[in-house]
Amino acid sequence: MITQVSKIFTDNLDGKEVSLQGWVHRTRSSGNMVFAVLRDASGLIQVTIKKDKVDEKSWSGATSAYVESSLSIKGIVKKDERAPGGYEIQATHYELISQGEAFPISKDLSEEFLLDVRHLWMRSQKLTHIMKARHHIVNYLREFFDNDGFYEMAPPIITKSGCEGGSTLFEMNYFGEPAYLTQSSQMYAEVFIFSLGKVYVLAPSFRAEKSRTIRHLAEYWHLEPEMAFYDQKMNMEVQENMIAYVCKKMVENHSDLLRACGRNPEDLAKITVPFERIDYAKAVDMVNELGGKMEHGQDFGADEEALLTKTKTKPIFIHNFPKDIKAFYMREDPNKPGTVLNADLLAPAGHGEIIGGSERIWQYDDLIARMKEQNLKIEDYQWYVDLRKFGSVPHSGFGLGIERLVKWMLNLDHIRDTIPFPRTINRCYP
Ligand code: ATP
Ligand code: MG
Repeated sequence: MITQVSKIFTDNLDGKEVSLQGWVHRTRSSGNMVFAVLRDASGLIQVTIKKDKVDEKSWSGATSAYVESSLSIKGIVKKDERAPGGYEIQATHYELISQGEAFPISKDLSEEFLLDVRHLWMRSQKLTHIMKARHHIVNYLREFFDNDGFYEMAPPIITKSGCEGGSTLFEMNYFGEPAYLTQSSQMYAEVFIFSLGKVYVLAPSFRAEKSRTIRHLAEYWHLEPEMAFYDQKMNMEVQENMIAYVCKKMVENHSDLLRACGRNPEDLAKITVPFERIDYAKAVDMVNELGGKMEHGQDFGADEEALLTKTKTKPIFIHNFPKDIKAFYMREDPNKPGTVLNADLLAPAGHGEIIGGSERIWQYDDLIARMKEQNLKIEDYQWYVDLRKFGSVPHSGFGLGIERLVKWMLNLDHIRDTIPFPRTINRCYP
């Protein structure tokens, strides 16, 4: 039976013989001893191999292993204060499964080189921790929606029209006709509210982002819930409850992982509802008071969002944007004409936008009027407009960028390490 490395630290195996399988994280020999660190998916353990305690084949394996050679060992668990984590393995058997070649990654390599060898760099502790955390975060998001009676739906990835504007569309050849990789699944999510009530889509969205930023990818994972009979107030409550739920679960169950990624769990323990709600017009004034420069009617960029969130410890909503700078499907606020029933959720400490959401225009005539105002061709969106002809209902939804959420929750400087193979303007390999 193979023991997981993490069990050595939790299962009181002192003095017992265990078998382990994994990879060489580090190795160094001195005289008749080899000191190695074995890595498996669950963690790292120090292994000592003494020449006179193992057979010849084991010894030659131990002395010829490279970093990242694969191996299986047998040995006795020993409590040892000097070893990281307080335990080490004294090997009785050491078998190289594949010696391989010298590993090309050592210390202090440039970020560009690490992206070139991303397929190997994925084995690093840093990315391993982040990928584990991402997995848990996504699971808790799904759990949150499942607990609340949402259904997950599968949208098409290949579509005929965009909903975030032509300039960031990726065009493809669809049997001789132009088609596009989806920028958002929102419109398809709206289809399902009529049969399933509350739904979400978790799928990639594609945007040909031409500028290099620390928070834009050309391909990202987009969580898009859509709810029948929800107004914008209820929509925002779903969002803050969702974020608070995921933070709470991560703190309760994965504090060590958070710490390993560079996030103090106490920061996330403070993420409780309600989140502050700030009107767009007030937020613009705040930006100017804080030393930024923007006019009413403009959208917030990364710099403005950084100013607004720099001193915050919880996410904030900015709501009621001018309708001219927002997507055509957002419903005008009857109590504040000229603005829409929308909100962006900005993560604290400079991270900025992680969610965009709104109440949707649900009446046929209103939708047609807005589309004309924005010079959109009705034919391009005919099926979407049709939804308003047959038993339409008030509804709302939002879009969360998974990588933006992970970046903030793990306190990372750049979005690139939140996804295994980041796609950006100058890279789609490996
Ligand atoms: P931004 O102003 O930051 O470009 P956006 O207004 O284009 O964002 P939306 O179209 O509202 O964003 O998309 C919903 C969410 O998807 C955003 O709040 C963000 O979390 C995420 N998102 C948008 N574009 C990207 C991208 N290029 N890379 C990663 N995540 C993105
Ligand atoms: Mg954008």
